[in-house]
Amino acid sequence: MGQSDGAAGIGGDSTDLSAIQNFAGKYPRQLWWLFFSEMWERFSFYGMRGVLTYFMVNQLMMSETVANLQYGATQAFVYAFTFVGGLFADKILGFRRSLTWGGLLMIVGSLILAVDPKAYFFIGIAFNIVGTGFFKPNISSMVGSLYKDDDVRRDAGFSLFYSGINVGALLGGYLCVYLGKGYSWNLAFGLTAVVMAISVITFHFSQRHLGPIGLSPRHGQPNEAKTRWHDWATYLGSLAIIPVLVVMVSKTDFTDAFMYSIGPLTLLYLGYELIKCTPDERKKLAAAMVFILFSIIFWAFFEQAGGSLSLFAANNLDNSLLGLTLDPNGVNNSANSFFVILFSPLLGLLWVALALRNREPNTVVKFGLGFLFLAGAFWIFYATRFFANPRGVTSLNVFTSANLVITFGELCLSPIGLSIMTKLSPKRLQGVMMGMWFLASAYGQYAAGILGAGMSSPVPNATPMDKLLSYTAGYHQLAIYALIAGVVLIALAPLVRKLMGEVK
Ligand code: GLN
Repeated sequence: MGQSDGAAGIGGDSTDLSAIQNFAGKYPRQLWWLFFSEMWERFSFYGMRGVLTYFMVNQLMMSETVANLQYGATQAFVYAFTFVGGLFADKILGFRRSLTWGGLLMIVGSLILAVDPKAYFFIGIAFNIVGTGFFKPNISSMVGSLYKDDDVRRDAGFSLFYSGINVGALLGGYLCVYLGKGYSWNLAFGLTAVVMAISVITFHFSQRHLGPIGLSPRHGQPNEAKTRWHDWATYLGSLAIIPVLVVMVSKTDFTDAFMYSIGPLTLLYLGYELIKCTPDERKKLAAAMVFILFSIIFWAFFEQAGGSLSLFAANNLDNSLLGLTLDPNGVNNSANSFFVILFSPLLGLLWVALALRNREPNTVVKFGLGFLFLAGAFWIFYATRFFANPRGVTSLNVFTSANLVITFGELCLSPIGLSIMTKLSPKRLQGVMMGMWFLASAYGQYAAGILGAGMSSPVPNATPMDKLLSYTAGYHQLAIYALIAGVVLIALAPLVRKLMGEVK
């Protein structure tokens, strides 16, 4: 029996799956529960992420280089653990228990940081890594379960869900830095704990509306009671890994070893699962792998936002946006989320409208478009050099227009990627494949740091002008590579579509 089958949900719920999936209108009402739960989780996640580097440099007294590496390691581990979280959800816990467990670990991690962020920094971070691994992929998989296989409204649902992610990211990213810098770091981390608790409580109450969605794969099986210890072993195992993670995250040399091994290991595991698949399932999973591999390139470029582009913002941008005086780093941190919130629902509705006229581009083409937007955005980042004054300071307006273009690229790829993972994976592998999707983000984050370091100016005591020229030359290269990736993907579209079968 798969995750979507089974009998009643928590609290004697008797909603059945078809009643949920045969919803009228544009969005299933359950989507709103998941929207808010994920919104608060992302508030907590991005709140913490937004303060990490700053906190490490100013409170833990790390050098900028070390802080950047630590930051990259944390992000890589966070996204790599989504594979583990997805795997255990598929095999043992089901999406719901995984989510609740992940949420609780995140609350504990934030509370530890709230008590004494300096002393317990890496312990708190390790709890958050494991917690996010259990939470993040599985809530996305549950959104997919709200739809029937052939429902054309699925991409629009993921677009709306993606707005929720960004409302959380925008609020958390801003408020936590504000509290931390202006008042107290304990308060900033305390806020992420409170908000995470709101997320878990929201999810708890959503369960009565979810029918059989997300129940354990053993739910209703004859051996269900006897195998209950599998759940406890998973909980204990995930606690036992935390001390190991504390060591691995605090020494970034381990990150390389980890990143070199986790990818091949997951591929081996997938190979093992493929043996048990039908030829049709195998083809679909091969198509999913094409999307996953291209997304690594996308994130490696996109995630310059947290690295080289934030240094670029600090060194090379003026502070005037459409006549308003604004901090360029603040703009770099928040413009993307702001544009996602603004345009994601509109794009979602555009996909539905096009689908109703049979004119919606297929997923491969949407991905290709994502890369073309990415290329356009990096070309604009490059072109900022033509607007620079002799001191190497250039226009925040031009820079922000690149943020707008990159957001359209993200919207053609990221929510669509979540959606296509749920379409191409057999039910029993939904969590694993969603985990692999996010694992690509881990590799993207990892590669982003390496790319950013490679683009920085090699000149000792580089002037802002040296830095401007060096980074924009790098952005020019990225624009060309993104363009090539987009063209290759669109050229591959007929082949990938064949692998996808009836999935669009
Ligand atoms: N910004 C999105 C989120 O937080 C996508 C992250 C990613 O896949 N790299 O969910």
